[in-house]
Amino acid sequence: MKRVYNFSAGPSMLPLPVLEKAASEMLDYNGSGMSVMEMSHRSPVYDAIIKDAEAKLRTLMNIPDNYKVLFLQGGASTQFAAVPLNLMNKNGKADYILSGQFSTKAYKEALKYGDAAVAASSKDDNFAFVPATTRESFRPDADYVHVCFNNTIYGTKFPYIPDTGDIPLVADMSSCIISEPVDVSKFGLIYAGAQKNMAPAGLTVVIVREDLIGHARPTTPAMLDYQLMADNGSMYNTPPCYCIYIAKLVYEWILSLGGLEAMKALNMKKASLLYDYLDSQDYYIAPVKKESRSMMNVTFVTGDAELDKKFAKEAAEAGLQNLKGHRSVGGMRASIYNAMPYEGVECLVAFMKKFAAENPKE
Ligand SMILES: *Cc1c(COP(=O)(O)O)cnc(C)c1O
Repeated sequence: MKRVYNFSAGPSMLPLPVLEKAASEMLDYNGSGMSVMEMSHRSPVYDAIIKDAEAKLRTLMNIPDNYKVLFLQGGASTQFAAVPLNLMNKNGKADYILSGQFSTKAYKEALKYGDAAVAASSKDDNFAFVPATTRESFRPDADYVHVCFNNTIYGTKFPYIPDTGDIPLVADMSSCIISEPVDVSKFGLIYAGAQKNMAPAGLTVVIVREDLIGHARPTTPAMLDYQLMADNGSMYNTPPCYCIYIAKLVYEWILSLGGLEAMKALNMKKASLLYDYLDSQDYYIAPVKKESRSMMNVTFVTGDAELDKKFAKEAAEAGLQNLKGHRSVGGMRASIYNAMPYEGVECLVAFMKKFAAENPKE
């Protein structure tokens, strides 16, 4: 067996110990005589798995008791609609910070449901940084403010939590959740598609303050109603059972490493290795402004589209896969989520040096 270093933005690498544990339990989970994939979600053995997954996530993220944890489906993109349907119902207004494609999609979806407004945007600079905001950036009667915390495509991250005063802050954390500690109490709602940093595709985690649920507009589809989902312990219908089980194993893996402080230290070590190299040379250009750099997604270009193409191809042949940048940005993107080992980034930097030496620019 040969495993590559997979720099995909998502679905992405899962920790090797998690895959090994899942493999060892594949045919017979804990003496049940069946795979987790095969069991009824109503069985006591599965009930213990979903409860344990929630308990572990609560421990890991230090989630306050007045927040619900929901295990849902439909990806982060479904939350673009679920959020306004559930929350945009007091004054029918919501403010969006545009820092990339996903926040723009979220904003466009919200426009269908009410008065969504752009509070700040870095679009004119091709989203190479995250916009600064102050309390004055937001309408005082907005029902919530939406932010995409880590911008997967551009490789930016908010270095600050927007100060929205009493207005609930809603954050898309798909590509940075459980990469470092975050103060959940500063947010009204956090959502994340699992396929970047938590589990296989198919699971979406929503962490929502209790007072924000129970106000969904009457036309809200049952599957998008947070209250209904919370009342049913995320089992109004069949949940993504196997994904939740893998998420539980991922939470256990991080806890065994020492929790989110330890995870952050590892992630910073990886990101610093790559950024320090990028800052030390002038063959590759890192387009993101330094203060907005993401620890999870690192973008860079050679400045020559042909060389970029050659880079991605030769890197893949060397076992460093999926380094091609998003089609809207070009160049390269190295997604170095929790599961990417430090050695993977070391190999990448070594490859970058070799490629630069072998392919001089005019
Ligand atoms: C990947 C991603 C999405 C889209 O997620 P889906 O689960 O595919 O809907 C949304 N927001 C961010 C920040 C992402 O990284």
